[in-house]
Amino acid sequence: MNTEVSNAGADAGSIINPTLNFSALGLAQPILRAIADAGYTTPTPIQAKAIPLVLSGGDLLAGAQTGTGKTAGFTLPLLHLLHTKHQHAQAGKPRCLILTPTRELAAQVEESVKTYGKYLHLTSMVMFGGVNINPQTARLRKPLDILVATPGRLLDHVAQKHIDLSGVEFLVLDEADRMLDMGFVHDIKRILALLPKQRQNLLFSATFSNEIKVLADNLLHNPGFVEVARRNTASELVTQTVHLVKQAHKTSLISYLIKTNDWKQVLIFTRTKHGANRLAEKLTKDGIPAAAIHGNKSQGARTKALADFKAGNIPVLVATDIAARGLDIDQLPQVVNFELPNMPEDYVHRIGRTGRAGASGAAVSLVDGEEMKYLKDIEKLIKREIPKVVAEGYVPPARQETEAPRPPKPQQRRPQGNGQGQKQGQAQKQAQPKQKPSGKPLSEAAKHQRKPQKPAFAPKGQMHHSGNRGR
Ligand code: AMP
Repeated sequence: MNTEVSNAGADAGSIINPTLNFSALGLAQPILRAIADAGYTTPTPIQAKAIPLVLSGGDLLAGAQTGTGKTAGFTLPLLHLLHTKHQHAQAGKPRCLILTPTRELAAQVEESVKTYGKYLHLTSMVMFGGVNINPQTARLRKPLDILVATPGRLLDHVAQKHIDLSGVEFLVLDEADRMLDMGFVHDIKRILALLPKQRQNLLFSATFSNEIKVLADNLLHNPGFVEVARRNTASELVTQTVHLVKQAHKTSLISYLIKTNDWKQVLIFTRTKHGANRLAEKLTKDGIPAAAIHGNKSQGARTKALADFKAGNIPVLVATDIAARGLDIDQLPQVVNFELPNMPEDYVHRIGRTGRAGASGAAVSLVDGEEMKYLKDIEKLIKREIPKVVAEGYVPPARQETEAPRPPKPQQRRPQGNGQGQKQGQAQKQAQPKQKPSGKPLSEAAKHQRKPQKPAFAPKGQMHHSGNRGR
């Protein structure tokens, strides 16, 4: 691999190369106009590095995650290349294929294509599962330049001969590490086999596991390599704190924190879909409107929940990792880990939802005694201790919350999912605790959950008092 290693060393908003502007990158005028309309003045580090490489026609391996401006990093030069090498778009035969792991990311990427390409005569569509296939089939009968798709639904269209991939000149694998984590490797291989040999390939990934390296070696030819700092080295913008609290008290604590700090926009992560639903219901009952977003929800419900949250109509969105992946919510002030993820990298992704585009943010984690090992792993990864704080004035409920036991420990490294909620659904269904039929004797764990609670457990000497703002 002929790689040019460069580390721009910053996130989207944190440090932007002040000497460079978009026009210096050689992008076509209509694209520069659209960028100006979007309010961007300077390219982010990933954009400054990736755009010239893509414009030169080479393959690219990019290490960047959501929040770095990576979407414009590949969208802008691809729009330029498609525009300057103009050809008449053909029905059902895209020239550019962008694959993403999730529906939300696909929708957001296509939105970016439309935003930056609004003064160009290029056409695009987005395609993902979980929604009626017929409108997509109808759209494929019209001319198409750029297709943004999740792998499963794309293969459905291939199987039904709605689409011809032999005209693809540009391929992007966005969040390739997530696609592999979610079990898409065979789907990707099947799709690659349908593409013409001669094409330009871009691979974006937040992490470089051996599987990613193998994929990159097979896919890319003499790629340029760009990387921007991982959020775990550039997360200074995010104030991180931990509340040590029993699992059974977490709902009352989070409700207290939201109310006393008057948090207006909070993204809460739970480990399971069931947990997300339950928490959203309880908060809503407690007077805090909340919606849950996860793979079992219909696409319509997910889109509506996200739109309501973005518009500020509901202050709380509860999400699982997979559903939240790639959500582009600008300047989200508050992220809460209702449970810590068992993969420390997921913590980094989660807190990456806040402190974006130069804004400061806060990430609060509610940690039960059984999650201390996850906390240690996270602290090892981010190379720092996260301050433990207590919520001033919070009194745990005297009566035990009728809380189900904490989510089961994951059996495997990662939940499997196909971005359309099916595999993820199966994996999580298996992982759900069986409900005890009423009247049956309680398990030891359940008995313990019913005992009157001591105040939140706290290893001695580890507490700092949080201020009023809970930061
Ligand atoms: P992404 O990493 O592609 O998800 O982008 C993260 C956020 O950064 C998005 O909300 C973009 O609108 C924003 N963004 C992208 N490029 C720039 C730029 N050059 N200047 C300021 N914000 C940007």
